[in-house]
Amino acid sequence: MVAPAGTSTAWPPSPPAVASGTTTPLVDGFGRVHRDLRISVTDRCNFRCTYCMPEDGLSWQPPESQLTAEELGRVARRFVESFGFTSIRLTGGEPTVRADLVDVVTRLASLPVDLALTTNGSRLTRLAPALADAGLRRVNVSLDSLRPDRFQTATRRDALPAVLDGIRAAVAAGLAPVKVNVVVTRGFNDDEVVDFARFGREEGVTVRFIEFMPLDADRRWARRSVVPAHEIVERIDTVFPLVTSARSSSPARVLRFADGIGEVGVIGSVTEPFCSSCDRVRLTSDGQLRSCLFATAETDLRAILRDPRTDLEAALDTAIRKTIAGKWAGHGISEVSFTRPTRSMSQIGG
Ligand code: SAM
Ligand code: SF4
Repeated sequence: MVAPAGTSTAWPPSPPAVASGTTTPLVDGFGRVHRDLRISVTDRCNFRCTYCMPEDGLSWQPPESQLTAEELGRVARRFVESFGFTSIRLTGGEPTVRADLVDVVTRLASLPVDLALTTNGSRLTRLAPALADAGLRRVNVSLDSLRPDRFQTATRRDALPAVLDGIRAAVAAGLAPVKVNVVVTRGFNDDEVVDFARFGREEGVTVRFIEFMPLDADRRWARRSVVPAHEIVERIDTVFPLVTSARSSSPARVLRFADGIGEVGVIGSVTEPFCSSCDRVRLTSDGQLRSCLFATAETDLRAILRDPRTDLEAALDTAIRKTIAGKWAGHGISEVSFTRPTRSMSQIGG
């Protein structure tokens, strides 16, 4: 059994305060205030994770459809200045394959937000110092197996040493706390959750276990392949006793190791959905605003950005407000009426 909540340290540190007086909270029809922007900076990727992309056959969007660094900066500024957003996470596809990623980070780092990046880690050895210098605060690195053969099966790439080196490079560059994201799938890597817990303790990183969601391009997702968050916690707790942390907040449930050596997180998007407290909005690399990861409709902010006739700031603010006002209550994965979005995870931005 996991022990009840105890005291905990405040981490990550609060982002700098946003100038007050000019911002209006971005509230939807269910009273949820949105403060977290996920920006996909590219739909391209150098991996082909089985739960995300097909082995081949997924064509890239044309370069001219991708928002430029300047356009990304403009849109992000609206979210911060008009709506008081406090965190921005860059994702993809694989953000580190974007040639001007450091420029993107430099522009966004001028905003008073907690700026983070989700990456497969394969290019971090080279990039981590430059990203930290540009103002990036934290990284999450995705890693689904510590075994070379399984890693290759999961990603269709032979890159485990590069990812492990990338995690260490991120720690060395001070992109802390470094978090390692593990998508757990039944019969593939569910026997590695304790190994990952041990890895986190030894490497000084926080491992977060994520339930497999129906966003794989191959459309092989099935409920039986989801390993529920509670089962992941129980497996780890048997070997490394866990204590529920008072810091738990959606989406991750945070559990501290009872001996004080670090913590783990579990994200039960399927079995423990956190939709009722969701504060996220997403921008795809081609400039489409989505109110939910599973949204089936998008708002074209790129068209607004590139229309020379518009009053840009007012038009963007109106489009953003309208999109979020129409946000639904939740993804409804467990309902019979659930419809998958047309785009898969790498095309949306996880
Ligand atoms: N390429 C980067 C990476 O892998 O971290 C960023 C983009 S990736 C789409 C963002 C996150 O989504 C990763 O942590 C990845 O493991 C996760 N992800 C991808 N497909 C998923 C799925 N079907 N269910 C749950 N998580 C998924
Ligand atoms: Fe690429 Fe990330 Fe998707 Fe893997 S999860 S295929 S690294 S975008």
